[in-house]
Amino acid sequence: MPQPLLFYSAQFLEHQTAGHPESPDRLRHILNTLDQADLFSRLPRKEPDPIDLALLYRLHDPEYVHMLERFSREAGEVGQRIDEDTVVSTGTYPAALKAAGAAVDMTRAILDGPYTTAFSLVRPPGHHAMPTHTMGFCMFNNVALAALYALEVMGLKRVLILDWDAHHGNATEHMFYQDPRVLFVSWHQHLNWPGTGAVTDMGVGAGYGYNVNIPLPRGSDNGDYLTSFETLVTPLAARFQPELILVSAGYDAHHADLLSHMGLNATGFSLLTEQVMKLADRHCSGRAGFILEGGYHTHALALSVLGSFQTLMQEQAVPVKEPFMSPTPVVTHETLHELLAQISQLQPLLRSHL
Ligand SMILES: [Zn+2]
Repeated sequence: MPQPLLFYSAQFLEHQTAGHPESPDRLRHILNTLDQADLFSRLPRKEPDPIDLALLYRLHDPEYVHMLERFSREAGEVGQRIDEDTVVSTGTYPAALKAAGAAVDMTRAILDGPYTTAFSLVRPPGHHAMPTHTMGFCMFNNVALAALYALEVMGLKRVLILDWDAHHGNATEHMFYQDPRVLFVSWHQHLNWPGTGAVTDMGVGAGYGYNVNIPLPRGSDNGDYLTSFETLVTPLAARFQPELILVSAGYDAHHADLLSHMGLNATGFSLLTEQVMKLADRHCSGRAGFILEGGYHTHALALSVLGSFQTLMQEQAVPVKEPFMSPTPVVTHETLHELLAQISQLQPLLRSHL
């Protein structure tokens, strides 16, 4: 049976956030659920190293990194707000270095083999972390650092980043907006925080066409995500021919999550993971790395991550009792179809004559 390599450190629990939804309990619930499903003990695991500072400085301003280190050291065990949404405590800076290190170590392990798939169960998350400041619970952009490492240290030419977190991966978009070596695809709830991620934001210069936003309507469910995957992402990947797929795996598009109004469930995340693996098998010898982003309903998060692991391990999903389904608006097929048609028409990589 195939096995994903798990990157995890107990240090991720030391990033205390004073009652914030991005809490250590998120990881505790995931680990307990993997254990109860008898998966955890069978997963090969690695303790990540802190990220190399020279690599970190390629994407994050050294002054910002020094400021975060100082703020973290002085913030105390409980934590203090560093921006309107993000809490930093004494354990934050070491945890953030290890979270970014996990993404990088994971990438090296996948490219070196023998494991072709891996999952970094990390916090703090990363896809909102900008070059010079924290944002949206994020300190360092874990997935962007992993992609940069694959390109500049491991010598790859093309990396596909898929971001299915319910919020737009604005910082990842920002970091590769002019870079055709990274095809970035973000699904997100239309106009949810941070409000960016428009269909027409497609990159600039050489990067034009290599940034794809799929701002789904509120209430989009398993079928809507899968339709958009098959309609847009499958042909895009065929054009781009990625050598590695990285996934910003946020689980806050689950219908029970209070930080978005989407309609996925654990089965949906399992099916999305299956689609990623099909692309990876087709284009890059099965090489795919997953990095945890959001997901704030701890029970829904744990079940959804379990769904991803069951797919990666090709295990039969055990039926799970999902959290209560709050009514979400139903997306009409016309709305979704119009959105996907609009993206297809705009997207230069999908125009057949190119
Ligand atoms: Zn999110």
